[in-house]
Amino acid sequence: MAKLEAEQRPLARPDETSTFDDGRTLARRQWLAAAAAATVAVAFDAARGAWLSAAQAHEGAARVPDLDGELVFDPAALEEAADDFGHIVHRTPWAVLRAQSTRDVVRMVRFANRHGLGICMRGQGHSTNGQAQAEGGVVIDSRTLNRIESVGAEGARVGPGVRWLDLLRASLERGLTPPVLTDFIELSVGGTLSVGGIGGATQHHGLQVDNVLELEVVTGSGRLVTCSPRRRRALFEAVLGGLGQLAIIVGATLRLLPAPASARVYQLFYTDLEAFTRDQQRALDDGRFGYLEGQVLPLPEGGFQFLLEAAAYYTPPELPDDAALLAGLEPLNGSTVIEEYSYFDWQNRLAPLVESLRASGAWDLPHPWLNLFLPASSADAFISSALAGLRPEDTGGGPILCYPFRRSELTRQLVAIPDSDVVVIFGLLRFAAPDPALVQSLLEQNRALFEIARAQGGKRYPIGSVAFSPADWAEHFGACFPALVALRGRFDPNGVLTPGQQIFQRGDSP
Ligand SMILES: Cc1cc2nc3c(=O)[nH]c(=O)nc-3n(C[C@H](O)[C@H](O)[C@H](O)COP(=O)(O)OP(=O)(O)OC[C@H]3O[C@@H](n4cnc5c(N)ncnc54)[C@H](O)[C@@H]3O)c2cc1C
Repeated sequence: MAKLEAEQRPLARPDETSTFDDGRTLARRQWLAAAAAATVAVAFDAARGAWLSAAQAHEGAARVPDLDGELVFDPAALEEAADDFGHIVHRTPWAVLRAQSTRDVVRMVRFANRHGLGICMRGQGHSTNGQAQAEGGVVIDSRTLNRIESVGAEGARVGPGVRWLDLLRASLERGLTPPVLTDFIELSVGGTLSVGGIGGATQHHGLQVDNVLELEVVTGSGRLVTCSPRRRRALFEAVLGGLGQLAIIVGATLRLLPAPASARVYQLFYTDLEAFTRDQQRALDDGRFGYLEGQVLPLPEGGFQFLLEAAAYYTPPELPDDAALLAGLEPLNGSTVIEEYSYFDWQNRLAPLVESLRASGAWDLPHPWLNLFLPASSADAFISSALAGLRPEDTGGGPILCYPFRRSELTRQLVAIPDSDVVVIFGLLRFAAPDPALVQSLLEQNRALFEIARAQGGKRYPIGSVAFSPADWAEHFGACFPALVALRGRFDPNGVLTPGQQIFQRGDSP
């Protein structure tokens, strides 16, 4: 471990041999090859805040630690890291680390500490508000840390950049599945474990963060640490759903369950919000479905319909009992649609839609999303009033999610949830026209709706686009905030980690 402490030495000139931290030598030939790749940083000029290629490096610059991957600073890499699925916030880092090892992460976090640089990991960049960006800092791209090390009944051990889609494929080969999957599964494990990870199975198994057995993390001070419910529990708890504020997840052991073969999917339609939520509550109460979600569907002629979407998982010869599953539910007469999917196709159901959205360019539109957790007692009233003010251009055809789950299934303290037995997730997954005035008005609408929800005990699911001040964050975390501040002071004393969440001011060390 001591070897990982990179020293700062003047760069060797190209005609010399340069000794690197771990004793390896960089011969002149290798130096010249590095110089040819002009976008790879080999040094940092702290006075100018500039990364330097081999050709630009000078003696006074701090040498970049020896890396298995590459630190790049070409415009294309910086531009990608300064963008996300929201396409609204753009904070440009000074460099992007394409890490090839945990050691790379350790070394760059330590380097960031020495030079006062913000640093964060970026998974698939599917945040919508700059959460995985680091202005003038370093973004670690986790896509190269995508190894599935093992899959078995004891769990799956994976790198942070593994997408849930890839894990699902690998685990199904062994007849296993993650207990909870998000609706869209091309998200990284590190990315969803930093926020929560909710889906139609949350009613039974909590969030994805509730199904983690062990983590390997690099703390803000650059220590590589293993944590679990039995080892360094406080850190384990605070990293899960901790929005990258204490440590970067470099490995996770995830719980797996036996996988069913098939999904029978039920779509029930309603014209009345109350009837819809009443049936969702009935289904939640007895847990009759393996998957339970719902959507609000704008009608072409104005107004809304409501869709209760549920799935029963099974493995033939056992078959779902339709009559029992639909008993007591009161959708519109004759509206119920029943479809069969393989379990994999159901979990990956958004893939064809996403492909067509990518092809049409809609995937690249601004996405000023609003995602709220509402106490069930006030959810109907809140949703009715939010829908009443909604114009078609406010969602641009993007889905409006609405489904309940039980708070008791959720165990992680930093995932802020209303103090209510039943919680409803409400999401305006907006696809906005690329008109800055419209986007700005939607961001303002997000803030206004958030404030109404907060006054009723609601919380923001921090994946979307709502402007938040440090005071908002303190209120968001509530009684957990002092503990988070103390842990931040302990594990990220220089305040370098994940500045894009804007929870702490830069360099804020409690
Ligand atoms: C189309 C779509 C569908 C979605 N559906 C769902 C859904 O059904 N359920 C749900 O819960 N969410 C959903 N989300 C939201 C999504 O879960 C979050 O935005 C998630 O953080 C995105 O994962 P990512 O890999 O893109 O992370 P990024 O956006 O890259 O990062 C998110 C945050 O996590 C941090 N981070 C990333 N990796 C690590 C790591 N290894 N260690 C520490 N911090 C890290 C980043 O710095 C950043 O702060 C959806 C998003 C989209 C765009």
